This record gives sequence, structure tokens and C-alpha cells, in this order.
Amino acid sequence: MSVIQKIVALQHLDSQLQDIAELLGDLPGKVNALKDEESSLILSVESGKARIKELNLELNKFEGQMVDIKGKIDKHKDQLFLVTTNKQYDALQHEIDHLKSELDKIEIQSLEFTEEKESLEERIKSEEENLESLSRDLVGRRKKLEVLMNNSSEEKAKLESERNEQRGGIDGATLSRYDRIHNARRGLSVVTVQRSACGGCGAFIPPQIISEVRAGRGPHTCDSCSRFLYWESA
Ligand SMILES: [Zn+2]
Repeated sequence: MSVIQKIVALQHLDSQLQDIAELLGDLPGKVNALKDEESSLILSVESGKARIKELNLELNKFEGQMVDIKGKIDKHKDQLFLVTTNKQYDALQHEIDHLKSELDKIEIQSLEFTEEKESLEERIKSEEENLESLSRDLVGRRKKLEVLMNNSSEEKAKLESERNEQRGGIDGATLSRYDRIHNARRGLSVVTVQRSACGGCGAFIPPQIISEVRAGRGPHTCDSCSRFLYWESA
């Protein structure tokens, strides 16, 4: 194996390792986002249910108050027949009017609470449905993530040992050049020569260098982007 062939093989292993990192890099993030969404839905359902409990207590209280006030109004109306003076009559009538306006206030408040309760019940129903499908989705994705992590950790270990072995066969100076370009060029340190240009940056490669690259001598690098050059036989 020529030096350039070794570098190409190393590049291939590095690319596969990079693919694994990218694959896993995305999925854990998605699983976490779903988990966040799930907990905020759970919280919202819980707070909605707590509010409904409060509203039910208030509504029960209102009901008791309304029964009470209606009873008082009836009693005052009965007394209207028993009074003997206009003054007593007016006083009773005044009290009845006052009670009626109290009753109105409570009825309006009761109606508002009932509406709030109904819209909360609707919200909770749809949130619970979302939660159900979200939880199913989450279970599925978690499983997928586990499988991927298991599979890829084996794959990763295998690739890493192959990578170490490959690096062992390359001289130190070439390796450090490879690593430098690898870091600077986002993981792509070896490119093919295409016609008479560098496959990485498109710079012109002199015919003399091309024929050396074709013959597998070198290794040669592009003057412009420093990537290693190799010839891919069709
Ligand atoms: Zn180049």
C-alpha cells in the first residue's frame, strides 16, 4: 500500500466515524425535546385540573348562596302581605331589591366560572390526547436511540481500532499533516484530482504533479488548500 492509499483508507474510516457522531448527535436532542414537551403538557394538565377543582368548590358555594338568597326573597315576599304600613312595605321591598341584585351578581359570576371550567375541560382533553401520542412517539424514539447507540458503539469501537491500526502504518510527519488538514478542512483531507484541478478547491494542478499522483507517488498536496491529492482510477 502506498502512503497515499493509506491516507485514503484513513480518511474513509474518519468519515464513517464522523457519520456516526452526526447520526447520534441529532437523535438525543430530539428525544430531549420530546421529553420537554411531554413534561410541559403534564404540567399544564395538572394545573388545569387543580383550577377545575377550585372552580367546582366556588360553584358549589354559589349554589348554596343562591338557594339561601332565593329563600330569603320568598320569605320577604310572603311578609309583604302581612305588613300594615307603607313604611314597612317599602322597607321590605327595598330589601327584596337588594337581595335580587345580590343574586344577579352571583349568577353572573357563576356563569363566568362555568364557562372557564368548560374551556379548561376542553383544553385538558386535547392536551391529554397530545400527551398520549407524544408518549408513544417518545417510547419509539427512545428505543430507536438505544438500538442505534448499541449498534453504533460496536461499529464505533471497530472503526476506531481499524483507525488506530491504519495510523500506525503512516509516518509521523504525514500523519500530523493529515491531522492539521483534517481539522482545518472539516474532516476532508484527501481529495481526488479532477481533470487538471484539485477536487477540493478547484485549483489548477500542474501536469507533472498529476502524473506523479496517477502513478501513486508522493504524497502530493494541493498548493492552494493543502489537501492530499489522489487519483481515482475509473
Ligand atoms: Zn485544493
